[in-house]
Amino acid sequence: MANGRPEPSALRLVRGLLRHYPFVLKNFRHYFHNLWRRQVRGTNIVAPYAAVLYVTHKCNLDCTYCTQKEPDVFSDELGTEDTIRLLKVIRRETDSILFTGGEPTLRPDIEELTRAARFDLKFRSVLLVTNGTLLHKRQKLFDSLHSIIISLDSLTVDSRQPMSKPSVLPHVLENLQLARSRMPRPTDVTISTVIEEWNIGEVERILDFCGEQGFVFATQSALHEKMPNLRLRQNPRYQALVGRIVERRRDRKQPINGTPKLIRTMLEFGDFQCFPTMFPRVYPNGDVFYPCEPLKKISGNLLREGSFTKVFARGRKLYGDIPQCKAVCHLFANVMSSYYVKDFWGLAGDTIR
Ligand code: SF4
Repeated sequence: MANGRPEPSALRLVRGLLRHYPFVLKNFRHYFHNLWRRQVRGTNIVAPYAAVLYVTHKCNLDCTYCTQKEPDVFSDELGTEDTIRLLKVIRRETDSILFTGGEPTLRPDIEELTRAARFDLKFRSVLLVTNGTLLHKRQKLFDSLHSIIISLDSLTVDSRQPMSKPSVLPHVLENLQLARSRMPRPTDVTISTVIEEWNIGEVERILDFCGEQGFVFATQSALHEKMPNLRLRQNPRYQALVGRIVERRRDRKQPINGTPKLIRTMLEFGDFQCFPTMFPRVYPNGDVFYPCEPLKKISGNLLREGSFTKVFARGRKLYGDIPQCKAVCHLFANVMSSYYVKDFWGLAGDTIR
C-alpha cells in the first residue's frame, strides 16, 4: 500500500513473480519444453516436473484403498549410499522430489536421505508423505523437508480395525502437533485425505480442522483398479462436500491444494488427459514405470539407463507413446498434469488468483 492507495495488481503480480523467480523460471522452462515436445516432436512424453520415489514397500498400516501394499511389481530396497546415488541421477532432470512408500519413515535412514536430498543435492523442493505414526522417532526430518504431507481419513478414533488409520489416530494427532511445532509455517504441513463413502462426514471435519490449524487441505477420492467410485456422484452429502471445498478454495478461506477447476474435475470425475511422465514413479531399486504405475510396466532403471529421458525413450520403443485414457485415475497428480500441459496459463491464473 503506497500513500494509502492499494498497489496496482500488475505491480503485485510482478513482485510475486520476482519473489518466486526460481519457481517461475522452472515453470516457464517446462511450459516451452512441453510445447516443443508435443507440437514439434509429436509426443505426449512431457518433462519430469517432480519425481515420486517409493523408498520402501513396507508399511505398518493396512489401508483399504492402498495400491502399494501388495504391489504387482515388487523391488528390493537399495542401501543408503545407492539410494543417494539414485537421487543424484534424479536431480539431473528435476529439482523436486517426493518421498513415499509404503511408509517411508519405516526406513531407518530416511532422515539421512532427505538431508542429502536437500543439502547435498540441492533439491529445491523436498516433500515426504507419511501416515504420521513414527514421526516422533524421525524428528530430523523436520530440518530437511520443505513440506510434510500427513494422511488422515478420519477424526474419530476407531480401534475395531487394527492397522487402520482411525485405530492410530490419537498418536498421529500428537505427531501432527509435533510437526506443526517443528515446521517453519503451518502451511508446510499438508493433510491428505482419501474420500470413500464411509468417511464423507469425517472429511468434512478434517476440512474444518485444517482451516482451524492453518494446515493445507488436500484430497482425492479412492480408486478401485484405476476406477473412481461413480456412486459418490449421486451422493448429496458428497456433492455438498465438493461444493464446500471448491468454494473455500475459490474464496481463499483456507489453504487448499489445487485450483477450483482442477478440484471439480478430480472429484466429479470429469474428462482430462493424463501426462504421467510429469510425475514419474521410481521404485526403491531405481526402476521407473512407463507409461505409468497403474499400467504396471517398467521401462528401465535410472541407475542402469542413467536418466528419465533414456528410460522414457526405451519405454516408447517398447510400449508406444502415452495412451489416451478416458475416465480413469482421477488422482491429483494426473488431473494436475492435464491442466499443466493443456491449460498452462489458465492454471497459472487460477493458482495466483
Ligand atoms: S490415466 Fe491412469 S492408466 Fe492412463 S496414463 Fe494416466 S495414470 Fe496411466
